[in-house]
Amino acid sequence: MEATRRRTQPSTNGKTSEQKEEPAQWGRAWEVDWFSLSSVIALLCFAPFIVFYFVMACDQYQCSITQPLFELFQGETTLLSIWARSPSFTWTAAKIYAIWVAFQVFLYMCVPDVTHKFIPGFVGGVQDGARTPAGLINKYEINGLQSWLITHALWYANAQYFHWFSPTIIFDNWIPLMWCANILGYAVSSFAFIKAYLFPTNAEDCKFTGNVFYNYMMGIEFNPRIGNWFDFKLFFNGRPGIVAWTLINLSYMAKQQELYGHVTNSMILVNVLQAIYVLDFFWNEAWYLKTIDICHDHFGWYLGWGDCVWLPYLYTLQGLYLVYNPVQLSNVNALAVLLFGLVGYYIFRSTNHQKDLFRRTEGSCSIWGRKPEYIECSYRSADGGVHRSKLMTSGFWGLARHFNYTGDLMGSLAYCAACGFGHILPYFYIVYMTILLVHRCVRDEHRCSSKYGKDWKRYTDAVPYRLIPGVF
Ligand code: NDP
Repeated sequence: MEATRRRTQPSTNGKTSEQKEEPAQWGRAWEVDWFSLSSVIALLCFAPFIVFYFVMACDQYQCSITQPLFELFQGETTLLSIWARSPSFTWTAAKIYAIWVAFQVFLYMCVPDVTHKFIPGFVGGVQDGARTPAGLINKYEINGLQSWLITHALWYANAQYFHWFSPTIIFDNWIPLMWCANILGYAVSSFAFIKAYLFPTNAEDCKFTGNVFYNYMMGIEFNPRIGNWFDFKLFFNGRPGIVAWTLINLSYMAKQQELYGHVTNSMILVNVLQAIYVLDFFWNEAWYLKTIDICHDHFGWYLGWGDCVWLPYLYTLQGLYLVYNPVQLSNVNALAVLLFGLVGYYIFRSTNHQKDLFRRTEGSCSIWGRKPEYIECSYRSADGGVHRSKLMTSGFWGLARHFNYTGDLMGSLAYCAACGFGHILPYFYIVYMTILLVHRCVRDEHRCSSKYGKDWKRYTDAVPYRLIPGVF
């Protein structure tokens, strides 16, 4: 098991932490095996290409992902001609993108949250993050919901009254914007990489493996910041990608209206289901500070480029597909997709909520109308101290060890199913999410098994399945 130190040291916010030794259950590896290294290099080489391929397939091949391969194989087209037909970088797109990112930085940095003052139950404003490997607790300004609301209010005001730009602006510049997003993604990842060597926010929270590719991809600094408040992880994870997600979908909807004179029910379904997911993210932004992305992952290309390019371009493929292939579902199918998506969302949110409640109250709460059942666990820190924790075995956490992922996957499948069964492209999302969450599940269980030892074994005996009861 890895070991890191906790020592008294001011954080970027001036907070201090106690002097204590504890083994790290955080983040990525210190040492890189050949498999991890090959995966990292493969991802660095292929991930940008995958994004380009999907977007190009829609632009040039009506979203068919087999047709370009077929034509290349038959010699009917060449890589060079595909490249020549692809829209290139434009200064218009660069201006749009620069204004967009600058506006999101402005909202993040200069507009402190006021929504928590008048929206009952919403946790916003300045909040503590989880303890970092070095023992610091950073402060975050939770104003994502407010940024989302202001951005969308302006979008609506523009579409209805001001008409400064067309609501199809995002779709109309989609590929040129992709080059801009790539420039930002690579710039921010490279900046974070260099910063970790030259002026890290907190040197204690850096991890160097000795392998430059792995360091670049998985990140060195845990919480890189500029000044006290510009947190790279929260900004790039939460905005501009996730705020843009719903705007991108709205732009696709506007394009459908412009092209066909109407909007299909599948487009409305995708917009509604994904908007619920995005709003849930912002409503729970303070809770999100305690999830694996913020608590365990370092900031590198994986998050920097991923948040700038992968997320906005691949999480929105369903809407893009529906612009080129408008699908009108029967009422029964539309209702079935809606219900499936809502049930998935309910499971996702309730499972996360149950664990949050259980941990916050240390088990003194009611889950499904009863006192929760749990396994008492202990884990040892590097200084030999024994700490206690609890793993819940009732509610959704009694059905499977990661039922929150199951709900997430059901929601993801609903977005894909809304597009019908004409093409493979919209189903990329469920394939990707399955790989992401199964890998995350294995990664998390490996960490928990190292942390809790035989108590984790007792827990896995009590709750034997990971995602689907009786199956996996
Ligand atoms: P979880 O919220 O599932 O957290 C896992 C941690 O919870 C474990 O490491 C352990 O931590 C604790 N734990 C595990 N089992 C129990 C139990 N039975 N009782 C109490 N605590 C337990 O993981 P994530 O942070 O990965 O996911 C958060 C949400 O975000 C998920 O719903 C996921 O679907 C979603 N997500 C979505 C993504 C997307 O791209 N759309 C990407 C990633 C996540 P400890 O050490 O404290 O015991």
